[in-house]
Formats: sequence, structure tokens, C-alpha cells
Amino acid sequence: MWEDWLQHAHEKREEKYLQRSLTVTDNAVKPVVRRNGKRLINFSSNNYLGLADHPDIKKKMIAAVDQGAGATSSRLIIGHGSEIEQLEQEVAHFHGKEAALVIANGYMANLGVLSTLLSPQDAVFSDQYNHASIVDGIRLSGAKSFRYRHLNMDHLEKMLKRAQAKGYQKKLIITDTVFSMDGDWAPLNDLIMLKRKYDAALVVDEAHGVGVWGMQGQGLAHHLGTIQEIDLLLGTFSKAFGVYGAYVAGSKLWIDYLVNQMRSLIYTTGLPPTVIAGIRAALKQVQAGTILRSKLHSHYQYFHAQLRRIGFHTGLSQTQIIPIYIGENQQALQLSHQLFERGILAVPIRPPTVPVGEARLRFSLMASHEQDHLTYTLDVLEELWKKK
Ligand code: PMP
Repeated sequence: MWEDWLQHAHEKREEKYLQRSLTVTDNAVKPVVRRNGKRLINFSSNNYLGLADHPDIKKKMIAAVDQGAGATSSRLIIGHGSEIEQLEQEVAHFHGKEAALVIANGYMANLGVLSTLLSPQDAVFSDQYNHASIVDGIRLSGAKSFRYRHLNMDHLEKMLKRAQAKGYQKKLIITDTVFSMDGDWAPLNDLIMLKRKYDAALVVDEAHGVGVWGMQGQGLAHHLGTIQEIDLLLGTFSKAFGVYGAYVAGSKLWIDYLVNQMRSLIYTTGLPPTVIAGIRAALKQVQAGTILRSKLHSHYQYFHAQLRRIGFHTGLSQTQIIPIYIGENQQALQLSHQLFERGILAVPIRPPTVPVGEARLRFSLMASHEQDHLTYTLDVLEELWKKK
């Protein structure tokens, strides 16, 4: 019975060009990776500043192994090392917030935060393209979910009005700041206006914004001068920081509530000392990373401009995440294979990660890319575009 069911699901995926597999990739932290010995220019990692391969960060992680291999228990049971306490103060200071809380990873952070803050008597407003972990956190909370059309503030306001008339207890708006599959920005100023008007909280997921935006890499909310109006900011240490883990930052009152109630903090083991040491070292590099940031910014501006010149549709992207919209899964797979043959790794993004009919190739640029990596890739893309 189970075998038939699994086999049927497998065949269905194959039919729709949705079958995925886990693949060995060597040197994933580098701008050029290897698969089965084949060299591939890497456009598929979130290591935006190249810090996952930073010698000082790696050295600090090695040194921290003397403190032990693991954290041994939940932080609320065994307590925590002084390093994590220092890290939380540093992160709070980094964002100009009173307090911060380190959480195992971004997925658990969104799941935990949303299911802790919201209950079935509440209403939550979420951009249609928010990350899957936000969608899952909302489901787990049981709150009434209002999913507004991507970036559409009129649609959001209509929903806020409707919810107000129905008298939900609390209202919370949540958005990615930089959208992970489209590379566009949330309209934070407009969201703040609506949050004030309808007495809602505003929570932002800066997973793809921290490290990249802001004078010291504090994220898009800082860059746009909106941080004071954000009630809770969620960030990850796994992307521009190049390490692992996540955090939320906000007022003491918000963070204290999460410490006491959040199941994805209470019922799971703390991060190992090596990871905490790596994150602290990465935070220093992020803050001092002005040159890396300007290299990344000029890389994606160039890449964007050239893709548009060739004729590719890249939507509203204005960041290091650049989609080439294709449409059908099969065509996205085909272009990805053609690029692979020419030594370029850009994976197709297909449903359910993106809506049906909106398959795309997603290029993630990194400060560690060399200009040659970009020009070669653009030459190949132009050649394939002309043959189409
Ligand atoms: N939020 C967003 C917007 C993300 O893109 C991701 C990761 N892809 C996460 C949260 C989850 O973060 P992590 O990888 O640390 O679990």
C-alpha cells in the first residue's frame, strides 16, 4: 500500500517536471563549485558576502570547540554560555533594538514567533510571496490568515478594514523585506502607515536583507530609515553571515514574551559553541564589510542591466537575487541543463516554491564572484537567448 502510494507520487512529480534530488556539491562556499569533478560557477548559494569561507570566522569556530561539541540541552534548562549572551547584546545593538534572541534557524524562528504571538482570535496579514516558513508559522498559529497580493497595499488595506469590522483581537502584518524568489523589496514605508492606521504590529523577515543593505549591513529596514517602526525583526545567520542560525530583535517586552512562550526555543537544544563563535566573528565582518557590499552592489547592477539588454524578463528585482522568469517547468529545467553543460550552476525554481506557471532560474550574486564569472555567464546566456 505505502509503496504504491509513494511510487504514484513519484510518477506524478516526474510527469510535471517536479522531481528533485539531493546532489553532492564540493566547495559550496566558493564562487566556483564542483559536481562530479565538473567546475561550475556558483549562482545558487546565499553566501552573499562570501563570509562562509572567511579564514578568521573559521579560525574562531575551531578555537571554540574547546568549549565542547554541543550545547547539551535547552537554554532554559542548562542555561547558556556567556558567548551567546554577548552575541544577543551585540545583535540588539547592531539593530538599535533593546533586546535580541538567538534561535536555531530561520525556519524555526518564523514557526515559533508566529505560533507564539498569534492565536485563533487574531488576524495576520501576509504578503502572498512571503517565505514558506512564514506560511507554516501562520498555519500553526490558527490565526485568521489574510494573504494579500504581492506588494499590493490597496489589497492589504481592504483586508485590514474587513478584519477591523469583524473585531479580531490582535492584528499583525508580516513581510519579507527582500523577497527570496523575486529579489524585490517590500514597501516598508507604506506598511508602516497601514500598521499605524489599523493598530497592527509589523514583523519583518530580513533573511536576505541583513549583511547586504544598511551602512553596516543592518538590513533593508535600516537602509530605508524605518527600523524604529518595526516591532520585531527576524534575521538569519545562514546567508550573508555565512554561518548558521537565526534571531529576532525587538523591545525587551516582546523578547521576554518569546523567551517564556516560544516552543521552538524552549523545547530544542541551543546552538553549539562553535556556531555561536562563528556568528560573533561573522557579525564583525558584516559590520566592517563596506567594500564587500559595494562589490556585491556593483555586481548585481551590472548583471541586471546586461540581462535586460539581452531581453530577459527579471521582474521587479533590485537586489542580489535575480530571477529570469521562464514560465513552464520543463523550459526552466532545460535552460538550467544547458547552463550546467557550459559550467554554470543556476537551479530552476519550480512550484510549490513559486506559483504554478512561474518557474524561473534564480541567480544569487556574491561579493566573491569575479567579473569574469559574470561576463562569461552573460555571454552564454546571450548565445542561448539568440538560438531560442
Ligand atoms: N526566511 C526567509 C525569507 C528565507 O529565505 C529563509 C531561507 N531560505 C528562511 C527564512 C529560513 O532560514 P534558515 O535557512 O535559517 O532556516
